[in-house]
Amino acid sequence: MKKRTLLMIPGPIEFEPAVLSAMGEPTSSHVDPEFIDAFGQALERLREITGSTDGQPFVLAGSGTLAMDTAGANLVERGDQALVISTGFFGTRFAAILERYGAEVTTLTAQPGGLPDLNEIEAELRRKAYKVVTITQVDTSTGVLADVASIARLGRQYGALVIVDGVCSVAGEELRMSDWDIDVVLTASQKAVGVPPGLALLVASKRAIDAFQARKSPVANYYADWGNWLPIMQAYEARRPSYFATPAVNLVSALNVSLGQILAEGVDQRVHRHKAMSQACKAAMQALGLGQVPQDPAIAAHTMTAPRYPGELADRPAFLKRVAQEGVVIAGGLHPAIKNEYFRIGHMGTTKIGDVLATVGAIESALNESGYQIEPGSGVAAAAAAYQAS
Ligand code: PMP
Repeated sequence: MKKRTLLMIPGPIEFEPAVLSAMGEPTSSHVDPEFIDAFGQALERLREITGSTDGQPFVLAGSGTLAMDTAGANLVERGDQALVISTGFFGTRFAAILERYGAEVTTLTAQPGGLPDLNEIEAELRRKAYKVVTITQVDTSTGVLADVASIARLGRQYGALVIVDGVCSVAGEELRMSDWDIDVVLTASQKAVGVPPGLALLVASKRAIDAFQARKSPVANYYADWGNWLPIMQAYEARRPSYFATPAVNLVSALNVSLGQILAEGVDQRVHRHKAMSQACKAAMQALGLGQVPQDPAIAAHTMTAPRYPGELADRPAFLKRVAQEGVVIAGGLHPAIKNEYFRIGHMGTTKIGDVLATVGAIESALNESGYQIEPGSGVAAAAAAYQAS
């Protein structure tokens, strides 16, 4: 039988044909005028999709972790105080990265599925002079959506640089870098940005660049050093050739195609579509009697859903395999404390209602085959109804 699977994990995702064909074009020189133009345009578009008016975009070959690493390497010096607002696995990772560059890190950690409360964050900001505050907008290990606008406001009020990990949110959740006065928005190509894995993306505020330029010690990461990349990004945007390290030519061309599609759809409209997909998926899980990891629907991401397994479901790996046999790939748990208690569905980028319905249908069959009896079609009906109402 023809192998045709629908990839519904929280990244990488399904990609648009035009993006994939840009990947397959003959590779040009990194100083070819057409490529310079595509790179320059991709930088302008990256600024636009993050809601930045005057930020400095960076596009580097690497993954989201390199984007986090780059923010840490350039903005933190030994002995700096850093506050990590953690809603899961990727908050823990940010703390480890900042510590590696010598920061003294305080982490405010929520229970899995929760969000540290704003009063607690403010009390901590009052206690010490933090140089940076990090927030994960959507922690992919819990599906929790942080209130970035409010946390950023607090961070800025106390004079910290605010760094947002938007790997599972940029181009899928509302994020307004300039309006919310954020200093770094970072992401990766393979999620709502809609490009195969391989690009680390950042936009840095003028204040972040000034802080980098005022460093007393050299950046302890040669590749990620903004001193190496700043002139290169500026040159591409000015449509001039330049070189520090070879850019991922095909990925950058594909990025420009995808960002063009995102802007053609409209970022606000795209955020609205992600909400509609999310409501459909979450309504289906509720109709099937499955709880969710986020403790409150108000803090649940719109780019993914993290349903809890029903208690009766004993063989969870077999359930995931059964869903895959139905032609849909979803993901298991990631947060170490609750890893075997839940699974994850991504609905980002190109996802349409038909994809959500197919996914819910596959989950229904797998639940029934796994001995958890549900009314066939009840989840699908709930998803369709929620979609119609959205
Ligand atoms: N932050 C978040 C919120 C993520 O979801 C991920 C990837 N799942 C990362 C950081 C790390 O990105 P990558 O796997 O591309 O290195």
